[in-house]
This record gives sequence, C-alpha cells and structure tokens, in this order.
Amino acid sequence: MDCVSIEEIKAALQNNNQDLAIAMIQKYLDKKNNTPLNIAITGETGAGKSTFVNTFRGIDDMAEGAAPTGFVETTSVVTPYPHPNYPNVTLWDLPGVGTTRFPADQYLKHVGFEKFDFFIIISDTRLRENDVKLAQEIHRMKKKFYFVRSKIDIDLNSERRRRREFSETRTKALIKENCIKGLQQQGVQSPQVFLVSSFELHQHDFPLLQETLERELPEHKRDALLLAMCNISLEIINKKKKAFQAQIKYVATLSAAVAAVPVPELSIAVDAALLVRYVKQYAVGFGLDIPSLKSLAVSSDAQFNDLKAVIRSPLAAAKITPNLILKVMVQCASTAALMAAEEGSRFIPLFGIPAAMGLSYTTTYRTLNGFLDMLADDAQRVLEKALHCNTTE
Ligand code: GDP
Repeated sequence: MDCVSIEEIKAALQNNNQDLAIAMIQKYLDKKNNTPLNIAITGETGAGKSTFVNTFRGIDDMAEGAAPTGFVETTSVVTPYPHPNYPNVTLWDLPGVGTTRFPADQYLKHVGFEKFDFFIIISDTRLRENDVKLAQEIHRMKKKFYFVRSKIDIDLNSERRRRREFSETRTKALIKENCIKGLQQQGVQSPQVFLVSSFELHQHDFPLLQETLERELPEHKRDALLLAMCNISLEIINKKKKAFQAQIKYVATLSAAVAAVPVPELSIAVDAALLVRYVKQYAVGFGLDIPSLKSLAVSSDAQFNDLKAVIRSPLAAAKITPNLILKVMVQCASTAALMAAEEGSRFIPLFGIPAAMGLSYTTTYRTLNGFLDMLADDAQRVLEKALHCNTTE
C-alpha cells in the first residue's frame, strides 16, 4: 500500500469495501504529512548556524524551542531542532568541523551523516579549509551540500557606509565571486554559494536556495520542505496552495467513503473532523495561526494587530472548531446551497454508488477548495503587509 492511487481507492469503494478504502486514504494522507526531512547545518562557531536554524523554522531566537544564539560555544554536540509545526522536518545544528577533534571523514561518521538529506555549510567569511574538506567528504558520501555565506546584510551595510557609489548588486556579485573562486582554488568544482541574511530571508539568495533545494530533493520530500518553509514569497504561498489542493481529492474521497457507511451521524462527525483537521493545516501552513502571526510580527517589525487587520477570512487568526467551520460554510453561499440535502441528487454520484457519497464528496471538495482560496488570499495580504513594514520601518 506504499503508493496508493485514487483508482485503487475507487475500486475498493466499488467493491463495497469501505474499510479498506478508508484505511488506504488515511495511510496515503498520513504518509504525505510524515515524510522525514533532515537538514544538517554546519559551520564554525559564530557563523550564524543557530540563527539560521531559528529563522528557517519561522521562530525567533527567544521562542521556546529556539536554538540558543550568540557568540558563545553554543554548539558542541549534534542538536536536533524539529520544526514546531512539522515535526517530520528537523534541522540539525552540528558543531563546526574545526571545533571537533575529527578529520572530515570521521566527523561525518560522528554526526551520523546517513540520516541527513543534505548539508548546509555556513560561513560568515570565505569558506575555510576545514569546511572545504568536509564538503569534499560529503560529496564522496554521495550526499548534497550547499554553501551559505551568512550575514550578508552586515557586508552590505559596511560597504554602503564606505563607498559613495555603492551598488548592492555589484557588491553581492563580488562577494559571491570571491567565495566561488576560493572554493574552486581548493578543488571544489562548480560550488553552489548562496548569500543569505537570516534577518532578511525574503531577500538576497535565500529564495534561490529554497528553489534549488526543492529542485534537487527527491520528489517525495519536496512537499515536506515546502510546507516547513516560512512564507517568504508569493510564489511559496502559491506552491503551498497547490500542494494542499492536490490532497483535497483524497480527503473528499475519504468523506465519501465514510458517507457510504449507513450511519448518517458518523458521516457528519467525520466530515467535521476532517474539515477541522485540514483547515488547521492550511492556517498553520500559511502562517495564519496566532503563534505564527506573532512570530512574523516580531521578525518583520510589524504590529500583530496590523497584520491581523488585513485578514478577511474568519478562519485565520482563530481557533478552528467544528462550529466555526459550520458558521463559515453557511456564510459561503455555494456551500450553504450544497448542504441542503436534496441538492445532492443534482450531482452525478462519483462512483455510481449512493447519492450520499456524491454529496459528501462534493461538499468536502468544494468547502476545502473554498477555504483554501480564502486562506491563501489572506496569506498573501499578510505577507505584503509584513514586507511593507520591513522596508518602511
Ligand atoms: P552559531 O554559533 O553559528 O550558531 O552562530 P549564531 O547563530 O549564534 O550567531 C552568532 C551571532 O551572529 C549572533 O549574534 C547573531 O545574532 C548574529 N547573526 C547570525 N546571523 C546573522 C545575519 O544574517 N545577520 C546579522 N547581522 N547577524 C547575524
């Protein structure tokens, strides 16, 4: 049952095997949400690893579960930092290879390299010899690595102060060229270097790093990365929306499968539970739950209330309960009409089986798509507001 297709689920339903259909869908949905992704972050003390680990997970340095930051020897052991909303995604803060007693090959064994999907090697200066040796060893072990040149905001600010004719593009091009040349001189072929500021993730090369990771990850891991990624661009919001959308037909089929069980209350209870579960996922994925909005307010210098003010959907910045879902469904004209049971007969039953199933499928399908649209629109408005505050403050 590793890769369940909608055809197999349909077949189980047509054979009147609701239990099998439900188990298949549940397994598919759980698997989608639980794909492990382990990201190793390494580099010398002070390079900015812990700060990167925190901002990548969308939490500020003071939050519970944050990696401790500051110019202290904070990372002497391998420390896992699970994503607060997606515990299947873990960022691992590794000690810099230079701070351990190990040469690169033994270092990799020591940190348990097999479990990592890829490595990010961070440096706030040119990459050091140790980092390069480590990269070569990672390559030998057939794993991927990416170089992040951190704290680019500091370089840009000091260059801005030093030069009257300052060009951000030119300065960044020079820094990148220097890093790449340095790496090539030490024998790394076509190194991938990304200039990042953990305080301005939406700027510089972080979006490019995100795209590169997404492109180079195996397909089944891409959604895990995407969903765990903070909403730094409209493109990411759209990609998340597409990933959520792709699941809706399974959720709707699950609700149809339950509707085929001849206990009407069961169907309604399961539909309500399903809707709550998936709307919660959308709200969290789009950063529209209250803790995420608060974190965003801190990192973007916006006021929480200003971010909240641009939200239109009653499902965002709210506690998602069956009652709330029902209230919003009733407010939406199209789903309200659908909920009138007689309307069910208008829909061609999907699998040639009871109309209740067709109704359940269509209601869940339309409701989730409608809610997803609303929340994705809110996510865009919140991002635009946050970016605006970040540039004007
Ligand atoms: P670690 O030892 O590699 O984990 O480094 P930390 O994440 O603790 O960072 C060391 C110091 O650099 C801290 O004071 C951070 O606030 C600062 N820092 C980290 N990343 C950035 C960045 O992108 N820009 C700026 N300006 N400071 C940063």
